[in-house]
Amino acid sequence: EGTPVTDAYPRKILEYMEGFLISKTVFAACELGVFDVLLGAEHPLSAEEVSRAVGASLDGTQRLLAACTGLQLLNTHQGSGQVFYSNTEQARVYLTRSSPLSLLQSIQYSSRTIYLCWHYLTDAVREGRNQYEKAFGVSSADLFHALYRSDEEMVKFMHLMNSIWNICGRDVVTAFDLSPFKVICDLGGCSGALAKQCTSAYPECTVMIFDLPKVVHMSREHFVSEADQRISFYQGDFFKDPLPEADLYILARILHDWTDDRCIELLSRVHKACKPGGAVLLVEALLHEDGSGPLTVQLYSLNMLVQTEGRERTAAQYAALLAAAGFTNVQHRLTEKIYDAVLGHKEA
Ligand code: SAM
Repeated sequence: EGTPVTDAYPRKILEYMEGFLISKTVFAACELGVFDVLLGAEHPLSAEEVSRAVGASLDGTQRLLAACTGLQLLNTHQGSGQVFYSNTEQARVYLTRSSPLSLLQSIQYSSRTIYLCWHYLTDAVREGRNQYEKAFGVSSADLFHALYRSDEEMVKFMHLMNSIWNICGRDVVTAFDLSPFKVICDLGGCSGALAKQCTSAYPECTVMIFDLPKVVHMSREHFVSEADQRISFYQGDFFKDPLPEADLYILARILHDWTDDRCIELLSRVHKACKPGGAVLLVEALLHEDGSGPLTVQLYSLNMLVQTEGRERTAAQYAALLAAAGFTNVQHRLTEKIYDAVLGHKEA
């Protein structure tokens, strides 16, 4: 008896083995500015024109453009025995620097930071902890000290945090009706992208962004306009400093950075500061209760292992953390995009 042949061709495994080739192709095209050059041109460009504009070898550029065509990021046009390239709609909207929905900064962070950490994924799994020391030579005893190891790294991180809310921020702030909550505090509110989604969805609310002093400074300087009178800032350490009183606290992608104990510590501080009848909104990517998916969130949980002290969790796990901190009547809503919402209440 031989080994049973379950599948004559291991399509999925081959795809997985080489998945990183796709990421790196997109990273390289973005870093060279291929999509920006094509956006700026009045007509489709030849490989030679692109190679000159981005300052790269003709041979390398030809292969890169061909691969981007295969990835459906570029269209080809035939003319006078030559191939000319233009951006597809998706590339134009998401991969060009000036687009309001640009993911370029996130792609750069993936390429320069996350990809380097993932080089040590096997070690992260073996050791059960993040890999900053190996990847960047910095101690991760203080997580955000490591993440913000230079101003440049901090700004890149802030852009990474910022860009996704242009794409799915509206969905998370409207998953529940938050109109009863007039004074909102966005804890770890970073660049203010979600705060802006709140003020646009709820015309009567004001939002305080609470974050570390240097993040607040950068956010004020570069992300939130002074003219925006409904957004204000608080600087401090949410584990140590007094939290401002509010009707609603938003913790978006905060708890997934920390251990259960740290989460309960933080949520207990929030519960104490919260007005009676107020609430806390967690914005996180939720795992299915039975662990079967979504794949993106399962991969994010590995990313939390290589990069942070935390993990991705199920709605029930978040509900347990909220209950341990004193919140009641916990509900969750799925948005069908990456991030979901969990709401817990403080009794009136
Ligand atoms: N809420 C934002 C979002 O979803 O786009 C940012 C999430 S980011 C993963 C975590 C945020 O928490 C960062 O802005 C970071 O500066 C902030 N943060 C981390 N530790 C903090 C602390 N001890 N006190 C205040 N803010 C902190």
